Amino acid sequence: MKLSIDEKLNYECIQCGRSCTGWNVWLRDELAERLKELPITLRVIQERGQAFERVDGVLKMYRDEAHPACGYLNEEKLCNIHATLGFEVKPKTCRQFPFFITRLPDGQVRAGASHCCTAVRGQLGPSLSESRADIEALLEQGAQMREVEAEVEIYPGHVQPYEAVLAFERHFEEQRVRLGWGGALEGALSALATPLGGPWQPYQGLSQQLPLLSQIMTMSLLKPCLNDHNRELWQRIDQAFLGEGELEIPEYAWKAPVADLDLLIRAGVGSRFDDGIDKYRRAIWFRKGHLLAGNLVAGLLLLWSLPGILRLLTALEAWKNGREPAAEDFSQALDTVEMSLVAHSQNGELLVQKMSHHLLAMAQIPG
Ligand code: SF4
Repeated sequence: MKLSIDEKLNYECIQCGRSCTGWNVWLRDELAERLKELPITLRVIQERGQAFERVDGVLKMYRDEAHPACGYLNEEKLCNIHATLGFEVKPKTCRQFPFFITRLPDGQVRAGASHCCTAVRGQLGPSLSESRADIEALLEQGAQMREVEAEVEIYPGHVQPYEAVLAFERHFEEQRVRLGWGGALEGALSALATPLGGPWQPYQGLSQQLPLLSQIMTMSLLKPCLNDHNRELWQRIDQAFLGEGELEIPEYAWKAPVADLDLLIRAGVGSRFDDGIDKYRRAIWFRKGHLLAGNLVAGLLLLWSLPGILRLLTALEAWKNGREPAAEDFSQALDTVEMSLVAHSQNGELLVQKMSHHLLAMAQIPG
């Protein structure tokens, strides 16, 4: 097994507690059994009534709206299981965070890191390659991995061997150096990435339809990024983007026409965070995120749509915080997108798969 680590990322735990807040942390019955009589667990039960719960037959750390953090996170933002019993005893999910591991069909393993981690987003600490020993130890213990199949679906109904996809990646890299991420992605999408090794032949009229698709995608990707999954709220958001009524997003204290939000994005955010967006795209590309969204075209759509949703969320964060868009707002937007769309949820994958069908319909290909 050849392990490649994303050396352009940095990481060193700053004990912010982010990785212990807002997640589902699954654990084995044996660990729960070992923990159940210990004072660190009795403390959790005293605070929130229970330490664990079973969801669909699987055991997880108990959390509720009043207690979004894991019960074992103490006042010093340290894990009580780690502090009392040692790192090796923590649930596997916790030991693996923030490493994001992908196994490729040629036996190679790629290790990147989640942008939900404050240190990774802030480029704090040494290169991720310094974590090689920790990643190797996780692999020996059976780390959680995403897998790229030997046969890769390019778009629904069209499959190619992984070697052909490597030829696509080489051609894409050449285009990216020449045209930047946006230009290379538009070229690949306009041709539905075929022929994989290039040169790509754009489908008639497809590139002219991409701006409209981009708007639809931004609107669609916003909804799973919200904490409130109320269907009526989502319908009102759809209607506002279609020109019916004001756009209201309570968790961002936003209530104004969509045009005002467009203005805020254009004037306040503009291209200020484009370097950060491209760094994020590169990190996803390294960990082969473009091959993990169901099909290659869907993965490319996800990468292509990132500027729209990240600029929108940055503008909303800044609005909520009552200030001009700042680096902290962009960082929060990155955290939200990684958590809700890219690495830790299937919502983004399902949405871009749906959108890839629209793209096929535009190119008049049955999907
Ligand atoms: S078990 Fe420890 S490391 Fe895992 S989420 Fe809870 S406090 Fe964090």
